[in-house]
Amino acid sequence: MNMMSNVRKKLVVVGNGMAGIRTVEEILQRAPGMYDITVFGAEPQPNYDRIMLSPLLAGDKSFEQIVLNSLEWYQTNNITLITGEAVQDVNRHGHTVTGEHGSVRPYDILLLATGSNPFVLPLPGATRPGVMTFRSVADVEQMLSIAAPGKNAVVIGGGLLGLEAAHGLNLRGMNVSIVHLMPTLMERQLDASAAHLLERKLTARGMTIYTSANTESFDGEGDNGHVQSVTLKDGQCIEADLVVMAVGIRPNAMLAKSCGLATDRGVLVDDAMRTSDPDIFAIGECIEHNKQCFGLVAPIWDMAKVAADHICGVAQTAFSPVASGTRLKVSGIEMFSAGAFMGDKSTEDVVLRDAARGVYKRLVLREDKLVGVVCFGDARDAGWYFELLKNGDSLGALRDTMIFGPAIALGDPDEALAAMADSAEICGCNGVKKSAICDAITEHGLKTIDDVRTRTKASASCGSCTGLVEGLLKLSLGSDYKADAVKPLCKCTHHGHDEVRRRIQNAPLKTIPAVMQALEWSTPNGCASCRPALNFYLLAAWPGEYVDDAQSRFVNERMHANIQKDGTYSVVPRMWGGTTSARELRAIADVVDKFNIPAVKVTGGQRIDMLGVKKEDLRAVWQDLNAAGLVSGHAYGKALRTVKTCVGSEWCRFGVQDSTAMGVALEKTTWGSWHPHKVKLAVSGCPRNCAEATIKDFGVVATEAGWDLHVGGNGGIKVRATELLCKVTTAQEVMEYACAFLQLYRMEARYLERTAPWIERVGLKYVQERIVDNAELRKSLFADFLDAQKFAQTDPWAEEASDKALGRKFNAMAVLV
Ligand SMILES: Cc1cc2nc3c(=O)[nH]c(=O)nc-3n(C[C@H](O)[C@H](O)[C@H](O)COP(=O)(O)OP(=O)(O)OC[C@H]3O[C@@H](n4cnc5c(N)ncnc54)[C@H](O)[C@@H]3O)c2cc1C
Ligand code: SF4
Repeated sequence: MNMMSNVRKKLVVVGNGMAGIRTVEEILQRAPGMYDITVFGAEPQPNYDRIMLSPLLAGDKSFEQIVLNSLEWYQTNNITLITGEAVQDVNRHGHTVTGEHGSVRPYDILLLATGSNPFVLPLPGATRPGVMTFRSVADVEQMLSIAAPGKNAVVIGGGLLGLEAAHGLNLRGMNVSIVHLMPTLMERQLDASAAHLLERKLTARGMTIYTSANTESFDGEGDNGHVQSVTLKDGQCIEADLVVMAVGIRPNAMLAKSCGLATDRGVLVDDAMRTSDPDIFAIGECIEHNKQCFGLVAPIWDMAKVAADHICGVAQTAFSPVASGTRLKVSGIEMFSAGAFMGDKSTEDVVLRDAARGVYKRLVLREDKLVGVVCFGDARDAGWYFELLKNGDSLGALRDTMIFGPAIALGDPDEALAAMADSAEICGCNGVKKSAICDAITEHGLKTIDDVRTRTKASASCGSCTGLVEGLLKLSLGSDYKADAVKPLCKCTHHGHDEVRRRIQNAPLKTIPAVMQALEWSTPNGCASCRPALNFYLLAAWPGEYVDDAQSRFVNERMHANIQKDGTYSVVPRMWGGTTSARELRAIADVVDKFNIPAVKVTGGQRIDMLGVKKEDLRAVWQDLNAAGLVSGHAYGKALRTVKTCVGSEWCRFGVQDSTAMGVALEKTTWGSWHPHKVKLAVSGCPRNCAEATIKDFGVVATEAGWDLHVGGNGGIKVRATELLCKVTTAQEVMEYACAFLQLYRMEARYLERTAPWIERVGLKYVQERIVDNAELRKSLFADFLDAQKFAQTDPWAEEASDKALGRKFNAMAVLV
C-alpha cells in the first residue's frame, strides 16, 4: 500500500468569517477529504452571519440564531478551528503561519479571508470610551453595554451600516441622531427622492437627522473620559452616551502586505482568486480584483466557488463580478437600486410616487432601454426590472406600463418570474440563484417558504426576497401550491402559521391585538381557530412576559378537565412516571366516595381517571386531591401529558437502567409545558420496551450502553412508530436531549400539529441537525426550555385556590443527580 497516497495536503484558512467558511464549504462539496483544514479566526465565535448583526443589535435575534456554522460542524468535517487567535505572520518560504498566541501551522495552500476593517475618523476624541464601530459581535456587545432607554446615541454615517445601527439603537429606546456628510442619506444606493422618503420615515420613528454635516470632535471630560457629546464643524453640539462610527470599510490587507504579497487597496488577486504567490489565495472583502473592492456578500459567493474550483483543481473557472443590484432592507424598509440610477443628460426618467404608502419607483431609460432603477418602500418587482436592465432589450410597448410592475405590464406577475434567467440571483444575502431554489423544490418536494428557507437558505436572512421565493414555489408547484404551500392559519388571515410565528418573533409582537393589527387580520377579534393558536405562539415566544388569555383556550383547558359526552368531567391527577402511593390512592378513593364519582379507570398512560365528575364538584374534588399532594395531570391540554415507565432495573430481572427514576425525573422537569398539541413520553428499562416508548412523541429505551432516544411516535388512528434520534450514555444527556427536542417542537411546529406529522414535514435529519449535531444549539434550547418552565403552568386548581401561583413544586434536576 502506498502510504504517501494517504497524506493529505494542508489547507490553512486565515479568517473565520463569511468568505473563508463559504469557500471551505465549497471545497468540501468538491473534494471532501482532499485537505487537512485548519481555520484561524481572530474573533472568539464560530462563523456567524455578519449581516444579522443588525437584528442582533435590535434584539430581534439571539447570537445562536445567527450562527452559520456551529462548532459541531467544524468537528464533523474534521476542521481544526483556532478561534480568538489572529495570524500575525506568514512564512512563505517555510510554508507556515504563526498566530498571535504562538500556534504554528504548516500549509500547502493558504487562503486569506481577513475581511475588512471599519474606518475610524481620525478626529479628536475618536479613541474615547463610548466611541465605537459596527463590525462584529464584540461591537454589538459593547453597544448594548451602554444602550438604555432615554440615553443618547449618535451615529456617524447615513449609509447602510449607519442606518442599521441607528435602527437597532432606536429599538433599544435610545434617542438617536444620525450625522451624515452628504446632503442625502444612502446616496450611493438611492436617488434624492428616495433618500428624502427614507429621511421622513426615520424621522417619524423619532430619529434626528443631520445631513451635510461634518463632524469636528468627540468630546468628554479630560483627554480620555467617556464621550459625552459630538461637536459638528458648524458648531452644533449633540449629546452622546454612545457614538457609532459607520463611515466605510477598508480591505484588511495587513497580513498580506507584511508577508510581501502584492497589495494595493486590498490583496491583489487574479481571476482564479490567486494572489501574487501561487500557493496563496485570497477572497472576500480583503481582496482587490481589477481595481475593484467589495462590500456585499453576493460577489463573495461567486469568489468562493471559483477559489474552491482552483484549490481542488476541478475546474478552470474565472471570477468576473456580475452587475448586481443592491437589495437592502434598511430598518425594515425595502429598497433596491441598480445600474445608472442617478441618470444624466442622455437619460429620461419614469417615476411613480405614492407618498401615502411611502412607495417610490424610478426607472431610468436610455434609447428605449432600461439602464437604472430605484425602488423604495416596495421592492417586489425589483428582480423583474433587474432582468430587463441586464438583458438590455428594447422595451417597446412595455415602456408605457412597466412602472406599475409586471402584474400590470405583462398582465401576469408570475410571467416575469418565469421569464427570469435560471442564473438570476433571488436571495442576495445568501447568494441563492433561481435555479437552486427551483431544483430544491423539485428534488426535495418542498412545499412551503419555510421548507425552502431550511433547504436553501433563500429568504432566511433579511427576508426581502420572500415574495420572489413564494412566486417560485407557486410556479414550481402549480395547483399544489394553493393546496399546501401557504395554508392560512384561519379565515381571518391569509398568513400561514409559520409566517405568523416569524412575525411574532421578529417584529416583535407581544399581544393578540398587536398580532392582529400588524398582520391586518380581517376580523376584529379573531375566531375560535386563530385565538388559541396565537395564544400558544405568544406563550411560547415570550415566556414570563405574555399573560395567558383564558378566553383563547378550548373549553377543556378553560375547565382544567375533560368534558365527557354526558356533560360531566373526567379528572386525572398526575402520577409521576406512573408511580403512586397508598396515601395518594387513599385520597383518590376518598374523593370517589365523597363525590359519588361513578367510574374509575386506569388509563393507557398509567394514570387514574375519575369519570363522571359534576362541573359544580370540580373545585372541591381538586381541593381534596391537592391536600393529598396530587396535582393536575393536564390530561385535557395541549401540553405534556404523561411519562409512562416500566419498572426497570429496580425490580425487573431484564432491566439495564432505572427507567422509573428516569421517567419521574423527565416528568418533573417537563410537566406543565404548553405545546402545539398533546405530548407523551415513555421510558423502558430494556429493549423489550414494555413502556411502548416507540409510539410516543419522545421515547427512551435503555440499553447496556446507555439510552436510545426515539422521536415522533404516535398511537391513535394513524399509528406511527418512532424514528431513532440518537443514542446517548448518561441520564443527564437524556434530560438535555428530551427538553431540547420539546423546545424545538414547541418553537417550530404549527399549532395542533403533533410531533409525528411535524417530523414527517421537516424530516428527521432536520431535527437531528439541530438536536444531535449542533451541541451549542441543543444546549441553548435546553436552557430556553428550563427558563420557560419557570413560568409554566403548575397546578391550575391550586393556582385558582390561592391568589398567587404556587411556583414549581419540584426541582427535577435535583431528582436526577
Ligand atoms: C452590520 C453589517 C450589516 C451588513 N449587511 C449586509 C447586507 O445587508 N448585505 C450584504 O450583502 N452585506 C452586508 N454586510 C457585509 C457582509 O457582512 C460582508 O460583505 C461579509 O461579511 C464579508 O465577508 P468576509 O469573510 O470577507 O469578512 P468578514 O465576515 O469580516 O470575516 C473576516 C474574518 O477574518 C478575521 N480576521 C481578520 N484578520 C485575521 C487574522 N490575521 N487572523 C485570523 N482571523 C482574522 C476577522 O476577525 C473576521 O472574523 C454587512 C456587514 C455588517 C457589518
Ligand atoms: S422493558 Fe425491560 S426492564 Fe422494563 S419491564 Fe420490560 S423487560 Fe423489564
